[in-house]
Amino acid sequence: MTRPEVGGFVRAWATSLHATRFVPMTRDERRTLLYGLADRLAGALVAAEFDPTVGYRVGVELVRAEYAVPECLGRTVALLTTRLLDDLDLAGDGTARDRLGALVDALATGFARAAHDATLDAQEATRLAAWAARDRAMRTLRAHEVEFRRAALQDPLTGLANRLRFMDWLADAAARDGTRLGLCRIDLDGFQAINDALGYGVGDRVLCAVADRLGVLADEGGYLVARLDGDRFALLVLDTGAAEDVTKVADRALATIVEPVRVDGNVLPVTGVAGVVELAAGEADAEETLRAAEIALRWSRADGRGWSLFEQERSARDVARYRLSAALPGALGRGEFRLAYQPLVSLDAGRLAGVEALARWHHPELGVLGPDRFIGLAEDTGAIVPLGITLLEQACRQAVAWLRYARGPFYVSVNLAVRQIRQPGLVANVAEILDRTGLPPAALQLEITESAALGADTETFQVLRGLTDLGVRIVVDDFGTGYSNLASLHIWPLHGIKLAGTFVEHLGTQAGHDAFLGAVVSFAQRLGLAVTAEGVETAEQARRLRGIGCETAQGWYFGYPVGPDQITRQLRT
Ligand code: C2E
Ligand code: CA
Ligand code: CA
Repeated sequence: MTRPEVGGFVRAWATSLHATRFVPMTRDERRTLLYGLADRLAGALVAAEFDPTVGYRVGVELVRAEYAVPECLGRTVALLTTRLLDDLDLAGDGTARDRLGALVDALATGFARAAHDATLDAQEATRLAAWAARDRAMRTLRAHEVEFRRAALQDPLTGLANRLRFMDWLADAAARDGTRLGLCRIDLDGFQAINDALGYGVGDRVLCAVADRLGVLADEGGYLVARLDGDRFALLVLDTGAAEDVTKVADRALATIVEPVRVDGNVLPVTGVAGVVELAAGEADAEETLRAAEIALRWSRADGRGWSLFEQERSARDVARYRLSAALPGALGRGEFRLAYQPLVSLDAGRLAGVEALARWHHPELGVLGPDRFIGLAEDTGAIVPLGITLLEQACRQAVAWLRYARGPFYVSVNLAVRQIRQPGLVANVAEILDRTGLPPAALQLEITESAALGADTETFQVLRGLTDLGVRIVVDDFGTGYSNLASLHIWPLHGIKLAGTFVEHLGTQAGHDAFLGAVVSFAQRLGLAVTAEGVETAEQARRLRGIGCETAQGWYFGYPVGPDQITRQLRT
């Protein structure tokens, strides 16, 4: 027995042919015969080269083995068409189904021919029976096929087309040269929560309600709609002219979804988000088109918008960002992050009072990357915590070396990310680094953002207090860009503020601005806060800042961020 999986089929076949033969055969003989025949049929179904004459020969052999009455053929054909594919696990295989049709056809022909040859008397009846059986068989096969196709292409819950069918549509649309097409992907918001809170039954009803509405929309507009899986729906718009043709569909789809769904007396609010892509046929295949819409959908979620339109440039930026963020930990290990230092100059004496440490990524392929390219990523992934510590230690070590040349107080100012402040153990880490490097705490300044300082809770307060208790200076960076409130500053353990560059930019250009900034500076000073101005680019700006009493300044006018050696040279002269 080469094919044990036909065993069940053979037993059924043997049973059904039992007593149709005039000359009795033993059960074993019958099974051996039928096994051989079944094995050949099964072999033909899966052979590399299909040979339909196998069916013909099986038909002939049945007659030769004296299974020659029309009934034998009828039962054989019935069994073949209802059972064999299932037993061989080929029910879903279109090729196997086609082959089985051809084999049954040939078997009936072979049987009829052999029966004809065998008994002229029985010929007519046999032929008729053969054709009737064949006809029946084909009809059964076709019915199965329709049923099978329906099941394969339709979502059983909502009755919409399923993913398979949608991808077929999409592939067809993408192949229609010279046309454009659009795809709108829709997800429901918080659908899992409905399932969790109210059960799958309610979840299913919500999906059906949404499917119905989208179905109506698609019918009216002539779009194609499908449920891909879960709460993921898609609309295909053919022959579009421009992106608006699809974004309008997205608008309407989202509007129809928001109608609350009534289930068992519950009124469930439903909302969704969409991702839209519109492109020329041939620009992308079906998978790529769907993926573009999925990406746009994620943008909608990230940006808190109803729908977003896919853009190649943004996607490329995302990919580049993703690559950078994946490369970040390795780069940290290889020491690719180094600090540039920008002078902080005291305005009255013109003396170098300190430097701000600014992170740079010396990327082996992309060159030197500024912090705007990677600090945000490092914050998102959490890599900012080890990165920040590494940079802090680098800055402190460098500052210790500089203190040997400094002829007066000198400090290094290091930026702290919000996430670092929220990280437990920051105070201990800073204390350790000061200890290890031997930097006097007063020579370290930490810059925190307005939001970290002012949107803060008692925990942040404790952290800032802990840092000031170490003797480290704390300043609020980019003061004035957020919702700062000068009056609330005094309750925080702070040493000063850094006025955002936009304040400096407007000096001398807007009526009343200088007076306003002067008031801010003197108020801050009355609270005991030192004021540093950022982004000073001209001598005029420096003069005006000195005029309003600002103590320290930073900007291109005084010096660009540079490598540590240049600062060393400046300190020595
Ligand atoms: P920031 O703390 O406000 O740093 C000042 C930025 O302004 C620096 O950009 C500096 O190069 C730039 N700048 C200096 N003088 C002038 C000027 O006269 N005109 C103009 N237009 N710009 C000037 P950079 O180095 O690209 O840093 C950007 C931001 O990245 C920083 O803004 C800071 O928020 C962040 N950052 C830099 N290094 C670190 C770091 O080590 N840790 C953290 N958490 N953030 C950092
Ligand atoms: Ca800063
Ligand atoms: Ca700043």
